[in-house]
Amino acid sequence: MKVIIASGKGGVGKSMLCSALAMLFAKERKIVSVDCDVDAPNLAIWLNEIGNWDKILPVVTSAKPEIDYKKCNSCGLCVKNCRFNALELKKGKPELNQFLCEGCGACEVICPQKAIILKSVQNGEIRIKKTKYSFPLVSGQLYPGETGSGKVVTEIKKEAEKFKHDMMFIDSSPGTGCPVIASLQDANFTLLVTEPTPSGFSDLKRVLKVVEHFRIPWKLVINKWDINKKLADKIKKWAGRRLLGKISYDKEIFKAIANLKPILKTNLKVKKEIKEIFKNLNQLWSDQ
Ligand code: SF4
Ligand code: SF4
Repeated sequence: MKVIIASGKGGVGKSMLCSALAMLFAKERKIVSVDCDVDAPNLAIWLNEIGNWDKILPVVTSAKPEIDYKKCNSCGLCVKNCRFNALELKKGKPELNQFLCEGCGACEVICPQKAIILKSVQNGEIRIKKTKYSFPLVSGQLYPGETGSGKVVTEIKKEAEKFKHDMMFIDSSPGTGCPVIASLQDANFTLLVTEPTPSGFSDLKRVLKVVEHFRIPWKLVINKWDINKKLADKIKKWAGRRLLGKISYDKEIFKAIANLKPILKTNLKVKKEIKEIFKNLNQLWSDQ
């Protein structure tokens, strides 16, 4: 069973919830935890598992053009047809800005002199370790300025599949882009997390469109529900029976994470609230 923790907006508590649920479910089942937030992976921090990776694997899922200047006749067609403005004619020759290039390959196709060839590049890495909680953590990172986040996510999930497991807990990227779509593919259940802010609620509805496109069953958790009780109530009414639980706002959570203390190792109210969500999930799945 693949459980995706997703949200539209960032910073709503996905990783906190994913790390705690992974630790709780690991007591009963064989699980694997997966960090698919390749632009800002932080599940390792919430699990107090930073560094000391057992394995770091390269990911090569992007490509950049290589220009053969001997063949180039300075026609400028590649520059005109690059939608990302990654090519610029300098002294009559096209020059590439690596950070703007999306590796789409249009320049290779358009070049009449066959002077451009797309070459594969390493755009990220996958990090794997066995955690002290006896389940593996598979994480990954898209390198700064690189493209292909969705493809990196797909590779991370392939590595995670290699571990024997009953359940996979996936911490997704925020938003609705490629890494989120790649995370949601073949998921069995989505736990959406939101906060009672206008952007939190609006981004939740956006990501829900993607979740519903894939016809994945979902439930909702409202984090920091007490920062705006009126809006939290509105979201609660909107979600109806989909609401699985609420988590209170507590400044102490930030202190705990700054000291690399997993939520389940604290005595904060949030620990009790997450345990309640865990109980509700267990109940839900045992009823099915
Ligand atoms: S399209 Fe080809 S020939 Fe024309 S400027 Fe670009 S690299 Fe040179
Ligand atoms: S691969 Fe695409 S984005 Fe990169 S330089 Fe060529 S046309 Fe531009």
